[in-house]
Amino acid sequence: MTKNATQVLEEKANVKSSDQKSVKFEVLDNGIAKVTLDLPNNKVNLLGPVMLAEIHDVINKVLVMPAIKGMVIISGKDDNFIAGADVKEIVALQSEPEMHAFEAAQLGKQIFDKMEKLPFRVVAAIHGTCLGGGTEFALACHYRVASKSAKTKIGLPEVNLGFIPGWGACVRLPKLVGLMKALELIPAGKILDSKRAWKCGMIDEVVNDEELFARAQAIALGANPKKASQPFDIQKLLLETNPIGRKMLANVSLGMVKKQTKGNYPAPVEAVKLILKTADEPAEKSFERESRTFAKLASTRVSKNLVGIFFAQNESKKMPEGAKPAVQIKTVGVLGAGVMGAGIAQAAAKAGYKVVLRDIKQEFVDKGMKTINGLFDGLVEKRKMTREEADGIIANITATTDYKDFADCDLVIEAVLERISVKKEVLSELQKVITKDFIFGSNTSSLPVTEIAEGARKPEHVVGIHFFNPVHKMPLVEIVRGKLTDDGAVAAAMSFAMKLGKTTVITADAPGFVVNRILTPYIREAAILMEQGVPMEEIEKAMTTFGMPMGPLALIDEVGMDISAEVCRVIHGKIGERLKPPTILNTLEGMKLLGKKGGKGIYLYDENGKRVFDKETKKYVFNPDVVAKVEAKKNPLMRSVIQDRMVLIMLNEAVRCLEEGVIKEPSQLDLALIMGTGFPPFHGGILRWADTVGIKVVYEKLDWLSKVAGPNYEPAKLLKEKAAKAENFYK
Ligand code: NAD
Repeated sequence: MTKNATQVLEEKANVKSSDQKSVKFEVLDNGIAKVTLDLPNNKVNLLGPVMLAEIHDVINKVLVMPAIKGMVIISGKDDNFIAGADVKEIVALQSEPEMHAFEAAQLGKQIFDKMEKLPFRVVAAIHGTCLGGGTEFALACHYRVASKSAKTKIGLPEVNLGFIPGWGACVRLPKLVGLMKALELIPAGKILDSKRAWKCGMIDEVVNDEELFARAQAIALGANPKKASQPFDIQKLLLETNPIGRKMLANVSLGMVKKQTKGNYPAPVEAVKLILKTADEPAEKSFERESRTFAKLASTRVSKNLVGIFFAQNESKKMPEGAKPAVQIKTVGVLGAGVMGAGIAQAAAKAGYKVVLRDIKQEFVDKGMKTINGLFDGLVEKRKMTREEADGIIANITATTDYKDFADCDLVIEAVLERISVKKEVLSELQKVITKDFIFGSNTSSLPVTEIAEGARKPEHVVGIHFFNPVHKMPLVEIVRGKLTDDGAVAAAMSFAMKLGKTTVITADAPGFVVNRILTPYIREAAILMEQGVPMEEIEKAMTTFGMPMGPLALIDEVGMDISAEVCRVIHGKIGERLKPPTILNTLEGMKLLGKKGGKGIYLYDENGKRVFDKETKKYVFNPDVVAKVEAKKNPLMRSVIQDRMVLIMLNEAVRCLEEGVIKEPSQLDLALIMGTGFPPFHGGILRWADTVGIKVVYEKLDWLSKVAGPNYEPAKLLKEKAAKAENFYK
């Protein structure tokens, strides 16, 4: 006999004793039912079948308690209301019908519906993160009060996982904030602080943290919330209520979202369509339409890939087993106030550390501080912080030419010249002034961390902390474990980088670590294709249509011709002949075509450093000097062949990294490449892409290419083994 939904709920709610329950319930003297959400043994509240069932149980109880005058739902956690739905629940589901029948999705809808129909006011008292399923839950409450705390974040970021909210938010939110605002929030997965959420009407009142529960109670008992006044907006009215306006809104919204997603991410497009379609429908029909759209999207390959990245990111936060940071970091020293040093100092100060920044001459220090000031000005302009906040943070940076100022540092990161003697010298100088235990982090791109550590008092506390340029934009930091680096130093480096909001991956002390190691053959391949006379535009298009954020030739210009060529030379020197730099890179470097920073490279640049765009042809303009050098050979190749050559060469190097233990887990390698190079997230990473295409297929293509295009294509051993055993990289 199959059980009905109510029976399932009752079973789930009753299996646990009261101290194991995630939903605690008490009736206060004033008739308020206080419901506290507190998932046991978990830092955050996640809405899964068990918590849902327990909420349902509470709803059933309050329904038959006439003394109850209102209900307040609050979290028992310090910094989250409900962090989201339990994504693990949907991973196992594959097909669309499975997804549609999915127990938690269906139960969630029923419970939210029942809660909405309770005969008294239900108020969500929100402090901390309230995202995805958490926001859906809050939207089904009658009122929402939120704390002013910076920890309070509200939003529906589901599209980042390739699906849409499926518990009614696509229907409830537009009714609350209007179509235009909902179209701005849901398809972009925007997350708001409590003040912004209040301004648009998503939150009814914002209060000081300590007033949260009292104010929620008062509203539950009948007080009017202090809502934000919504100014009269004629444009909004016309667009939202008039059929012609509605059509215009649909066209503009769809056009925008299609342009942004380039056909690679279906969820934002479907979200727009759904919000517009359900605007005039009866709620029941809309909820069902939302469920079907959710099921369709959540079972797509793109969604599976994005969910995979989400888990990889959670995994990346785990410290080495049993490890604790070897040093508590309060003061951070940065050596070198150049491109990287200034960026690292700014990011560390912004994260709340005291910072000491040194360069060899006052003018270099001043230049670094000018960069830092500029970055903070930008944040103030974008209203990410106030002028006072920015000035307060800048005051925490000591800019100096003197090592003595480093005496108090717990962590020092060097971003000085890429020369081993200079790296060793700065470490030795530091050791003269810092007498306590400290971590020495090197931002080197290519030098062995183990060698840098040779003269260290504590080589186990020397670790690579490899940021990417520009530091304030690039989300990845590679944590490089030298031969002697201990877990405590790795943990300290990770916690530091994470406090800066970065994603970390741990790599071995190998040439180019992971990202530059894989990017080098990619850049090299683009240069070889160019050298062979393949039209440059085709090389670029092949990779942008694959989903890369820019073409590989634009990337060379962005990195700088000199640096691209140098990295190729270094990796070639360490890995061997198969990665010999193509002549063209040296030639262009010799012609001083440095790329963006020099105003000329493979492309031409205007005075603002932007690529010159020809409005007539609607194309970026290649440098005619480069075109003259390479395109005379005229060697057209099919786009799919170019893509094969470019992507498979990266894949082959990625597999070698796994084989050599440069990085341990396929998921972490995929994450590194997505965060460090912009590899298209919708593919889920390069190894996941290979699994999707088929290991045997990629092996055979590489094998064939090795015969026609050179030894660098020789399939990596691990790839050959996997192809023979018909195994994937992911289980
Ligand atoms: P940069 O030339 O812009 O800055 C280096 C700074 O270090 C200069 O201002 C120089 O005066 C200063 N310096 C030299 N000796 C010093 C000393 N003894 N004490 C203090 N300062 C000293 O170089 P950058 O691009 O910022 O690179 C710095 C490091 O970061 C290098 O190891 C590089 O490989 C690495 N890195 C660079 C990038 C990038 O894209 N630029 C990316 C990742 C890592």
